[in-house]
Amino acid sequence: VRVSPAGDAASTAARADDVERALRALGLWTRRHVSDSGAIAFAISPSSTRVPAAELAAIPHVAELFGLESPHPLLDAMARTVTLAPGTSRAAVLGGAAPKALLAGPCSVESEAQIHRLAHAVKAAGATVLRGGVWKPRTSPRGFQGLGAPALRWLTDAAHAAGLAVVTEVTSERDVEAAAALVDALQVGARTMHASALLREVGRTGRPVLLKRAFSASLEEWLLAAEALLLAGAPAVLLCERGVRGPDGGARNVLDVGAIAVCAAAHGLPVLVDPSHAAGRRDIVCALAAAGLAAGACGAVVEVHDRPGEAQSDAPQALDPAVLQAWWLERNLR
Ligand code: PEP
Ligand code: MN
Repeated sequence: VRVSPAGDAASTAARADDVERALRALGLWTRRHVSDSGAIAFAISPSSTRVPAAELAAIPHVAELFGLESPHPLLDAMARTVTLAPGTSRAAVLGGAAPKALLAGPCSVESEAQIHRLAHAVKAAGATVLRGGVWKPRTSPRGFQGLGAPALRWLTDAAHAAGLAVVTEVTSERDVEAAAALVDALQVGARTMHASALLREVGRTGRPVLLKRAFSASLEEWLLAAEALLLAGAPAVLLCERGVRGPDGGARNVLDVGAIAVCAAAHGLPVLVDPSHAAGRRDIVCALAAAGLAAGACGAVVEVHDRPGEAQSDAPQALDPAVLQAWWLERNLR
């Protein structure tokens, strides 16, 4: 926001004070910039919630509004509502004015029978999207790596049978095409958020993308990864906050509810909360999901297992679907 100059520096500064007071009264964050020639302008972004331009222009002594070019214009212009499996009986609407969504499934698809049981269980719990892993990015190379292509088929068959949209993670460019042919959205995980070549291949499929935030990614890095997907051809990106590295607070990661609120309120973007990977322990998964939804997430992505303690990956955070169902039901009755 540029302040119109007065005859002398003191009166220009006085005008600027008035403008700053008016901006603050609108709830905006401001930072004053004084040029070498004494011209004064206020930066109000990136830390302010959007205010209509007309309201800013109407403030006395505001000469003009000018914007620095956004580094993520496609993301800024992206539709706020994302429909997975549009035009099918499995269609799932996320973001915008849609009700908060539940996305659920096992960390890893372990067998055909298991994924069919869980697909029906999460449907009963109120989920509209089945999320299951078949290519697992694991911290240990000796951990369970997922069952790959056969499990992808079981996963999508199970979703179709239960009437759910379906999402799986791809960890390698090699698997993108096969996955995109079967699922309604592709997931890019925290470990690969920075993998530009993978983002390009995933975007090129034209599928919507669920994009996890990397362990230590800044908001800007996360948004630019989303921009890369859109630039490559993705029609929509659902951001997903899954906890970041921080001090040990007793959970696996630190759920950044501030980032969820900024994405949702300041940028108006569809953002999901993944309480499972943030928690790393089942006793606090519902609490973190509630926190993320309260901060503005348009849905929660939750890991379940029918024998939670025996899950092949992420067992400590797996919820019994009945527990998820009870929580979601109670939440929606409130
Ligand atoms: C997952 O979703 O199962 C997963 C591995 O998550 P993240 O990429 O957030 O660690
Ligand atoms: Mn997992």
